[in-house]
Amino acid sequence: MIELRDVTVSYPLPNGTRKTVVENLSLEIRRSEMAYLIGPTGSGKSTLLRLLYMDRFPDKGVVRVDEYRSDRIRKKDIPYLRRSMGVVFQDFQLLPDRSAYENVAFALYVTGKSGAEVKHDVMRALARVGLSHKRNQYPHELSGGEQQRVVIARAIANHPWVLLADEPTGNLDPGVADEIQELLVSLHRQGMTLLMATHDYRIVKKYPARTLALMNGQVVEVDPETL
Ligand code: ADP
Repeated sequence: MIELRDVTVSYPLPNGTRKTVVENLSLEIRRSEMAYLIGPTGSGKSTLLRLLYMDRFPDKGVVRVDEYRSDRIRKKDIPYLRRSMGVVFQDFQLLPDRSAYENVAFALYVTGKSGAEVKHDVMRALARVGLSHKRNQYPHELSGGEQQRVVIARAIANHPWVLLADEPTGNLDPGVADEIQELLVSLHRQGMTLLMATHDYRIVKKYPARTLALMNGQVVEVDPETL
């Protein structure tokens, strides 16, 4: 379960004051739920995902992700929290000098799994995104959509219960964006909790789910039909 309770986040401005991005925000996302987080650029979508990843901490209020709480978590537990989540963030690019297989395996080596377990998890993740046959290709040999599939395989390889995705269809042509969204929806149907930040209303309307709009530091539930 994910819960934000009265969360306020601000960033310092060069003039010495602070810009408040979210203010007294409360929100709950249950296991196996799928939700979109929408709002224009700068509305705080990435900030909210980073709060859950505990890459950012609130100025005020509490963020809970399963048994982890932002006000109690110890630094050494943050890697464990992160291993329980899969992330598709724009700044987590693929390593250009590693194959698809190695890109997915990379993050698993640090978890202390045996070589056989890593191999099993990587092959399973690549199969789930439909890319087993391209496991030995390098990122530059893959299309944009295929690269995004590798990113998703990497995110799910460690069996996370939740997937956080920040504009996962952002830089893709509409047809390819649809294929990626269909993959994410199918992962959700298989039980994955999915929280996806997007400003692509076309995708939200075509694949409707609970939709949370960030506006003026608050989150409002909206009907995707009305977008
Ligand atoms: P979104 O993902 O919706 O585009 P962000 O969460 O990235 O929104 O940003 C929300 C606001 O916070 C923006 O005004 C942005 O400039 C500001 N912001 C985000 N990260 C930082 C940072 N590290 N330092 C200062 N301001 C930031």
